[in-house]
Amino acid sequence: MENSNLLAIAAQFGSPVYVYDSEKIVSQYKRLSGAFKKVKHVKLNYAVKALSNLAILKLMNSLGVGLDTVSIQEVKLGLLAGVAPENIIYTPNGVSIEEIEEVAKMGVQINIDNLSILEQFGTKHPKTPVCIRINPHVMAGGNRKISVGHIDSKFGISIHQIPHILRIVENTQMHINGIHMHTGSDILDIDVFLHASEILFDTAKHFKNLDFIDFGSGFKVPYKEGDIETDIEELGTKLSKRFNAFCKEYGKELTLGFEPGKFLVSEAGYFLAKVNVIKQTTSTVFAGIDTGLNHLIRPMFYNSHHDIVNVSHPKGKERFYSVVGYICETDTFASNRKIAALTEGDIIAFKNAGAYCFSMASNYNSRYRPAEVLWHDNKAHLIRKRETFEDLTKQQVSVDIFNTVASE
Ligand SMILES: *Cc1c(COP(=O)(O)O)cnc(C)c1O
Repeated sequence: MENSNLLAIAAQFGSPVYVYDSEKIVSQYKRLSGAFKKVKHVKLNYAVKALSNLAILKLMNSLGVGLDTVSIQEVKLGLLAGVAPENIIYTPNGVSIEEIEEVAKMGVQINIDNLSILEQFGTKHPKTPVCIRINPHVMAGGNRKISVGHIDSKFGISIHQIPHILRIVENTQMHINGIHMHTGSDILDIDVFLHASEILFDTAKHFKNLDFIDFGSGFKVPYKEGDIETDIEELGTKLSKRFNAFCKEYGKELTLGFEPGKFLVSEAGYFLAKVNVIKQTTSTVFAGIDTGLNHLIRPMFYNSHHDIVNVSHPKGKERFYSVVGYICETDTFASNRKIAALTEGDIIAFKNAGAYCFSMASNYNSRYRPAEVLWHDNKAHLIRKRETFEDLTKQQVSVDIFNTVASE
């Protein structure tokens, strides 16, 4: 996006503000679906938890992208956005049987990731088709916090428990219509991904009545210049070939599924903030901005890098800054970061602010969560208002039960 448009958005809607460029989302979608065009049936389900604004869900729906959800609330958001229940898959972890049954009743595809719930659900609802989330025990992912396929991960049913799964299926006569894996975010090595896929194919052979195989997600996107990213085209060529061969062997044209979150929305997002104060200490120049870990926690929580640019004065001489938030904790967005000289009042932009940014925002320090704006067809559309004081108090229940301590 052009700096002038970002500045106009900050001027119109105030700061801090999240901005999403719909064109980038569409081009990422086209890139991914293009990479798998040799497979007859491909189904992309967008991982709602990355960015769950209704406008984004509607945009996905308009592209023919379904939704991957992890809570009943995400399912409800999807339905509210007009997504058909059959285009939603629900992949919860550690969720109650009651919630799973409620979602199943809505007509949403259920994906179960533990033996206990599988047995209970299969016994009570043998006619409802269920997908099984497998843990292939492949160590993938950028770091341990986001890697979910390793040996003691809480996600998925271990491949070593396939005999147990088969026994449950036999005993309950339930219908398994899909096999799924999601090994975690930030997959760099295509061979690791293909290796995990082979495990999935081996698993799939045990189930005679499948409709789809879902390969999850974990595509890495570039966060800075020169960053390695998942080579989607190469993955597409290799996995498509293997998938088509498997379908032949299996005797049915299955659907190949993916559930990208980050890949579709990360690079589409910009988080705009204002420089409140430049503070020079003996060793560091701090740029204090009008936001903090309450609005963008990835740098503190995952050690994530987000490029930061000076939108107001992009051509200034570059200097080194520690960019810090206004929260009363150490909330450092970037240390020793080279940015075009900042002055108080400048608007800065964090890049890659589409995925896991607003959706992880909180009201810590009793701050309002920011507005969200969708840049579409060269126009800014407000898609979420900035919160107000009322939002902070509306769920609180006022009590009048304390006696004032009399002062001497
Ligand atoms: C979070 C999640 C995804 C999306 O992962 P990305 O790295 O954002 O692409 C996909 N599937 C499941 C089950 C998830 O929990």
